[in-house]
Amino acid sequence: MASTVTLEKTTTIQSDGTGGGGSPKAMTLRSPLLTKAGKGGDGSGAIAKQGKCCGHSHRRCELVSYDKLPEFLKHNEFIVDHYRSEWPVKDALLSAFAIHNETINVWTHLIGFFVFLALTVCAATMVPMEYEASSHSAMAASTTGLTNLTGNPLVLRSDSRDEAVTVAMSALRNVSVAAETAGPAAAAAGHRVARWPFYAYLCGAMFCLLMSSACHLLACHSEHASYVFLRLDYAGITGLIVTSFYPLVYYTFLCHPLFQALYLGFITVSGAAAVAVSLLPVFERPELRWARAGLFACMGASGLVPILHKMLVFGARPEAVLTTGYEMAMGAFYLAGVLVYSTRVPERWMPGRFDLAGHSHQLFHVLVIAGAYAHYLAGLVYLSWRDVEGC
Ligand SMILES: [Zn+2]
Repeated sequence: MASTVTLEKTTTIQSDGTGGGGSPKAMTLRSPLLTKAGKGGDGSGAIAKQGKCCGHSHRRCELVSYDKLPEFLKHNEFIVDHYRSEWPVKDALLSAFAIHNETINVWTHLIGFFVFLALTVCAATMVPMEYEASSHSAMAASTTGLTNLTGNPLVLRSDSRDEAVTVAMSALRNVSVAAETAGPAAAAAGHRVARWPFYAYLCGAMFCLLMSSACHLLACHSEHASYVFLRLDYAGITGLIVTSFYPLVYYTFLCHPLFQALYLGFITVSGAAAVAVSLLPVFERPELRWARAGLFACMGASGLVPILHKMLVFGARPEAVLTTGYEMAMGAFYLAGVLVYSTRVPERWMPGRFDLAGHSHQLFHVLVIAGAYAHYLAGLVYLSWRDVEGC
């Protein structure tokens, strides 16, 4: 019969009743935080009291306060409690299903990873990889698709903003219709619109979300694990930023190979440099939080150059307006995320109040997913645009 192992949260209370530790007069209270099925035992938490946790007899998996953490786990003094510290790998993995101050950080990006996996499968299913467009046959197919959907034939070029959005959204909904209709004819025409920039972005987003999730789950294991997973986390963020440029630059400048190569080369080299800088141990020091945020923000902000260039060249086109709108939304989400991450709001206002839920890093994660999704929508519009028009 399965019994229960009780993981305990240890809270040290000073004589004045406030949280904190280290005082010789402090007393320690233990409260059951969660229960976990295991073999043997009497179901009353006796195993934990004997010093066993999750199958290990030599150490206990308990949650500790900030002041009991080793230096390498001290990142945010405004989160004062519910830390895992130097847990065995197996227990750290299983703690994905327990309550501590990283639980929501793990799950926000793990769920985000599965959402992007589903979006990738949807995109691969709805937008055939082999679809190739010639401007004449695909334009005809698109017009057919729009007519079928709305009942009124729409002209793709439009100067009206509202009409532009309508047209672009209709085109978005009809990516698969147009592809299916135009596929054979377009393929026969011999023109091919590459899919790799769009999928590179989706892979970049999934890599970022998965590495972030793994980092939050496992970095508590040891100083070495913390170093490795934080680097993977930084590499994931860099990968997301770099691959975000790929659909924007590749499809916008499909007919301008010089600018295409210039922008793609610039962001790829910048990303490699950012990963190299992030390998330095000094990069993760808490006081360099603003420098980290600044580096990634500058990389992201450099995307303004190709976006402005796009508006100069294609400003009146509905696809350019719509994709720029999504890119501005993405930028706003990321900027809000960077600000929340750097200022550590709201926990700095009420330290300890947001340990488990509502602290800045969780908000940062949600904003990253929102920004990445906005960019995914922009990617669909780019595909629709170039499938219809080619170069
Ligand atoms: Zn994170």
